[in-house]
Amino acid sequence: MFFGLWPLVLGLRCWILNSLRFTQDRRPKTKGQNSKGILAERDVLIIGCGIAGATAALRLARDPTRRITVITRAPEARESNTRYAQGGIIGRGPDDSAELLYNDIIAAGAGVTSPTAARILADEGPPLLNEVLEKTAGVIFDHEPSGEPIWGQEAAHSRRRILHVGDLTGMAIAERLISTLRNYDNITIQTDATAVDLITFPHHSRDPLDNYRPISCHGAYVFNRSEKTVHRYLSKMTILATGGLGRIYRNTTNPVGARGDGLAMAHRAGARIANAEYIQFHPTALAAPGAEGLLISEAVRGEGGILLTPDLKPFMHKYSPEWKDLAPRDIVARAIHHEMEMNGYSYVLLDLASHMETEKIRARFPFIYNECLKVGLDISREPVPVVPAAHYFCGGVLVDEWSRSNIQNLYAVGEISCTGVHGANRLASTSLLEGLVWGNRAAMEIERTLDFAGLQPEFDDIPPWDESNLSAEPDPALIQGDMQTIQNIMWHYVGLVRSGDRLSRAIRELRHLWNEIETFYRTTKLSDGLIGLRNAVEVALIVAQAAQHNRQSRVCHYRQDAVEWEGDRLI
Ligand SMILES: Cc1cc2nc3c(=O)[nH]c(=O)nc-3n(C[C@H](O)[C@H](O)[C@H](O)COP(=O)(O)OP(=O)(O)OC[C@H]3O[C@@H](n4cnc5c(N)ncnc54)[C@H](O)[C@@H]3O)c2cc1C
Repeated sequence: MFFGLWPLVLGLRCWILNSLRFTQDRRPKTKGQNSKGILAERDVLIIGCGIAGATAALRLARDPTRRITVITRAPEARESNTRYAQGGIIGRGPDDSAELLYNDIIAAGAGVTSPTAARILADEGPPLLNEVLEKTAGVIFDHEPSGEPIWGQEAAHSRRRILHVGDLTGMAIAERLISTLRNYDNITIQTDATAVDLITFPHHSRDPLDNYRPISCHGAYVFNRSEKTVHRYLSKMTILATGGLGRIYRNTTNPVGARGDGLAMAHRAGARIANAEYIQFHPTALAAPGAEGLLISEAVRGEGGILLTPDLKPFMHKYSPEWKDLAPRDIVARAIHHEMEMNGYSYVLLDLASHMETEKIRARFPFIYNECLKVGLDISREPVPVVPAAHYFCGGVLVDEWSRSNIQNLYAVGEISCTGVHGANRLASTSLLEGLVWGNRAAMEIERTLDFAGLQPEFDDIPPWDESNLSAEPDPALIQGDMQTIQNIMWHYVGLVRSGDRLSRAIRELRHLWNEIETFYRTTKLSDGLIGLRNAVEVALIVAQAAQHNRQSRVCHYRQDAVEWEGDRLI
């Protein structure tokens, strides 16, 4: 579906852009300065080891002759968005069917979900969960003494079909997947290894004739955080599995690594990005120093929790007289945002203590209860401060049903990809399942094509990283300051309520910052923070521009100045 003339045109455009952007001050050294001892070539390089990257690795490793390298920027392999998932993952409930799940996914996506992608997820997801997570990785989901799973119910699901491990589902999945990966001799897991940029031709090629060929990927430049050195990781196939980008917003439920690295790398290389304006905001993240962004599950409101202003007045009846505090996620998030903006509040309160018995709260929400206690808040006795927060990125690198991007040999899986499943709004608990399904599909496609990958470049064909003319160490104050500026711009102008004026302002400010950061990047030694900052401003611009381009409001993308269409007429 992606192969026509446009990859060639895109390739030329990107080569020109990239040459201007980031090669000038990191010139290749002369041939032969690389150390082949460190730089093993591999069949498949997987960047990221959350559920999506780990699933791909597990399937590929079944053939012991295949050499797979999985890298993660985190110091621990299990650290990822996957680890923080609380609610659960979709299975096939007792009175459930693929058709019912398909209908729910399509309904949530508000007309933007790809029917093909929804069908794949609904058909393949639940059986794959059983095969990969339960049988291969050994995840034990909550069940009755009889062995029957305890099926959870979540908003907008027509059936009880959510499997969970207490409220720490992601932790159980991440730990089991990583320890299973470690059983394979042909998988190398490298932590503290931050991918800086993809190695792509024609951009990194020495052969000018490569300009006339489609863009292709041959691995990545990877920054070793402890040695502070950059190495070339060559691979026949590369899978981007770097997760989401919540950290470009001031308030987010996402951990520190979710800054859109993979999206920025893919964009610089010329990958097609889709649906970047659809950012899902969660209505309630804790707003307490030391535990900012801790997700306070919607089940808390499901159990009777009520939102209050800081002076203890309920307000949801004004925004949704019918549903009040149980209104859909986007309505509740915008209502809180409106209260905060209009009244200058820095948070609102969520009160469960007045509506549920203390013991029941502790039993039903042990993780939330304990995490709140650590910062001096007792959710069973008092209201707790909450804010809406960026939670999930519905868009990403556009891929087909086999996880292929428009760049040859480059796959994208999990939250960084746009398969079309989520459309304009993600159905709860579909994201872990999507990572599982498309991680598996990427591996299946690579199994089919790896042997025909064609002539691969060698180390001497790829320019080594060169920092020899750079002496300045990255200034943490600049990195932190610029990051906070990006987060504030995104929060205020590209957040829950958008408008043409806000978006134009955001784009102007982000462009200015992009230039500043690019200069900083070119003249400063690398660090993980600097890599993240450069990527954050790149993806912030991608999101802001997509939001400006789309003048229609749909669930996760809400514009005050939205236009409506009637047939082909603007009304
Ligand atoms: C608090 C919270 C609760 C959630 N609850 C649920 C839920 O109940 N159910 C559900 O389905 N979904 C839930 N989600 C969403 C879900 O967790 C994610 O969408 C999913 O885990 C993403 O998986 P992934 O494999 O794509 O990426 P991740 O799990 O985020 O993994 C990304 C990997 O890429 C690595 N990485 C990033 N950048 C680089 C780089 N430059 N170089 C090298 N490595 C890099 C990271 O270190 C990490 O290993 C929740 C998310 C959050 C934050």
